[in-house]
Amino acid sequence: MTDILISEVGPRDGLQSIDRVMPLEAKQRWIAAEAAAGVKEIEVGSFVPPKLLPQMADTAELVSFAKGIAGLNVVALVPNAKGAMNAAKAGVDGMSIPFSMSETHSVKNVRKDHPAMLEEIAAAASIAKEHGVHLAVGLSTAFGCTMEGAVSEDQVVRLAEQAAKAGAQEFSLSDTTGYADPAQVRRLTRKVKTAVGDDMLTTLHLHNTRGLGLANVVAGLEEGITTFDASLGGLGGCPFAPGASGNLVTEDLVLMLNSMGLKTGIDLEALLKVRSIVEEALPGEPLYGFTPDAGPMLDYDQRTAA
Ligand code: ZN
Repeated sequence: MTDILISEVGPRDGLQSIDRVMPLEAKQRWIAAEAAAGVKEIEVGSFVPPKLLPQMADTAELVSFAKGIAGLNVVALVPNAKGAMNAAKAGVDGMSIPFSMSETHSVKNVRKDHPAMLEEIAAAASIAKEHGVHLAVGLSTAFGCTMEGAVSEDQVVRLAEQAAKAGAQEFSLSDTTGYADPAQVRRLTRKVKTAVGDDMLTTLHLHNTRGLGLANVVAGLEEGITTFDASLGGLGGCPFAPGASGNLVTEDLVLMLNSMGLKTGIDLEALLKVRSIVEEALPGEPLYGFTPDAGPMLDYDQRTAA
């Protein structure tokens, strides 16, 4: 039994943010090693046209590889209904469709305004249902947008309600830009849970762009969030802020949760060894994290024994 599910998104969010393409064989070793360390869910890639993101061209092959690992929940990102169909055919357990709360970002990023995205969500939801696949909607730029600035919390709530009507089975709140602060995480989590139902908002997708990632996790824990996305080594950095880390660093997140006595099922020592696979496959690519430099510390039982 685990208290908190850590969903590793490095093979998708991390790798899509860098120009180099990691060879399929290295991705497979990475995924297998993380699963062996106790990671129970991995977002292995994205079903986008390879022309747009050549880094993700082997996602279907990765899905079939990862499906061979017992006990691993295999998820993929899908930008639209077409991607959802490809993901379902590849045999994913779950898919996640990003829905940008900033309409400017949505139009710029996927050339769809909010009504058009709600239609895609409805179409993806019926494909998911037909194939027995779980569909989560990622409410991206929920904490602010680099183009629009502040994003109205009432708008996030309204769009979440509409996406639930369109067939979303679950939501995550995504701090795409690294703008979230703990008070905002608490407030927005509470508002969206109230609107769509407590068990419909389970996940936070946080970036550590300004160093507030773990503080935001604690705020989420206090509001009943049970799943956190993270990326090994914070791989990929932040496209908006050169030199800044990207996703929440999986190693630091595991250290914090394990030391708080929350069960993640992840062996930190084994997880730390996985970094060498990424380092060898992408020489020179910056990896982030405090725990990898400082090393693990006493676990919860040792800390509380005295
Ligand atoms: Zn992200």
